[in-house]
Amino acid sequence: MKHIFITGGVVSSLGKGLTSAAIGLILERMGLTVSIQKLDPYINVDPGTMSPYQHGEVYVTVDGAETDLDLGHYERFTHARLTKHSNYTTGKIYNEVIQKERRGDYLGRTVQVIPHITNAIKEAIERGAGKGCDVALTEIGGTVGDIESLPFLEAIRQFSLDKGKSNCLFIHLTLLPYLRASGEMKTKPSQQSVGKLREIGITPDILVCRTEHPMTDEMRDKLSLFCNVEKKAVIEEKDVDFSIYEVPINLVREGMDELLVRFLGLAEGTQADFTGWLEMLEAVRNPGKECEIAVVGKYIQLDDAYKSHYEALAHGAIPHGVKLKLRKIAAEALVEQDPALLLAGVDGILVPGGFGERGFEGKVLASRYAREHRIPFLGVCYGMQAAVVDFARHIAFIPSATTTEFHKNAENPLIDLMEEQKQIKNLGGTMRLGAFPCALKEGTRTRELYGVDLVQERHRHRYEFNNKYRDQLTKAGLVLSGINPDLDLVEAIELPDHPFFIGVQYHPEFQSKPLEPHPLFQGLVGAALKHRNAVETAEVKT
Ligand code: GLN
Repeated sequence: MKHIFITGGVVSSLGKGLTSAAIGLILERMGLTVSIQKLDPYINVDPGTMSPYQHGEVYVTVDGAETDLDLGHYERFTHARLTKHSNYTTGKIYNEVIQKERRGDYLGRTVQVIPHITNAIKEAIERGAGKGCDVALTEIGGTVGDIESLPFLEAIRQFSLDKGKSNCLFIHLTLLPYLRASGEMKTKPSQQSVGKLREIGITPDILVCRTEHPMTDEMRDKLSLFCNVEKKAVIEEKDVDFSIYEVPINLVREGMDELLVRFLGLAEGTQADFTGWLEMLEAVRNPGKECEIAVVGKYIQLDDAYKSHYEALAHGAIPHGVKLKLRKIAAEALVEQDPALLLAGVDGILVPGGFGERGFEGKVLASRYAREHRIPFLGVCYGMQAAVVDFARHIAFIPSATTTEFHKNAENPLIDLMEEQKQIKNLGGTMRLGAFPCALKEGTRTRELYGVDLVQERHRHRYEFNNKYRDQLTKAGLVLSGINPDLDLVEAIELPDHPFFIGVQYHPEFQSKPLEPHPLFQGLVGAALKHRNAVETAEVKT
């Protein structure tokens, strides 16, 4: 097995996750199998307890790990199987080491960063790589030069010695800032960040330079000379024009495929075959009709908070050839202003997941507006719970319907904790997490969209549809389209006499890929397109 380590310099948010995912795709398209993992230097055991404002979305793996959103890129670009071993933080590493120390596993020795923490990191790399894949990619979060990333860099340096230098490839992603005043791009910060890496004993083999403008040959020479990287291996990664899915193609245009073949010792002439991917990009580049979908969420100011939702919507638009316009609306605005004004003219509404009281009533209003105005609607997790509350209040005559998430002693707890959740005190890693089966009801739209009877979907929530209200709600017309056959929990609901109104307790957005759009998102965009066409036809007639 070969290993690729991807580090980042100069600033954070350079797109290391995307670049790692893109390299993973290039390798797969060369016929190799890959695993991808991220090591995050912060101290939280996982991002599960962090605010979305701090960290963006929490991505959930099949086996129920709450992880960094970069893992979403990995799964969207590649077929790597991600698990709880695909994301380690400083906190998770120290947690392991401290538990061992408490058990007495270190037999009286002093426990230290080197070798105990670095050994634990090396073991985590082995676990993340698993067995049987050709290339294991490991992205190191943070920026070279940060105090907290030092043990990780030291560990990968040691790892490359243990495995043999020829089995490890170091890729460093850096920024070439553009100074508008002088109209120049600068290489100095990159030189300094590579200098920092070399101090630790790591010399990057490939330097990927993020730029706004094309890099000149002279800059390539300079970076090669000062960073001790051969000129051919100094490559440009310019900002993409229209889609993140261009990144792998742009990297190959810069010669990344040849570098990978050479550094990984692959058969000469191995080429990446982008069949399907290029056609998908072509469709994204030349969409047809425009449609507008409102996304009503609590953390709407921060795009990263709903990363997988936005990606899944974009994927859903591809097969329909739709140019998707998003109207991002803060959920609480629907309470403060007239929802009809805020939502006027949209062709579809997506209400993503969330937590806590703020924004919940706005989500209920979004559901109500979609229901009453026959606008295609998809409610995910909290979005589904809000839709259930809306239906209970306004159709099933339960005006006090709510969730016990913030109304602890609710008279009508339509959404409530499961018994086993009631005893839990710790917040970290204790929700219903990971993949669970969902049996789809024959004759429902949801079943029709999936085309199968049983699906596996990922969860991340504490509260559930309260089974005590099942009869009352179904009698009032709500269709329970998906049930967890093992736990007898409601996983999906829909309205039969509506063009498209679906709520799901799980997170379909985590399983969508550009070449395999999730059926529910594809369905939502399809219904939105129909809505747009119907509106236009009506306008022509009047
Ligand atoms: N807050 C809700 C719960 O915990 C929904 C969670 C979510 O949307 N991810 O059940």
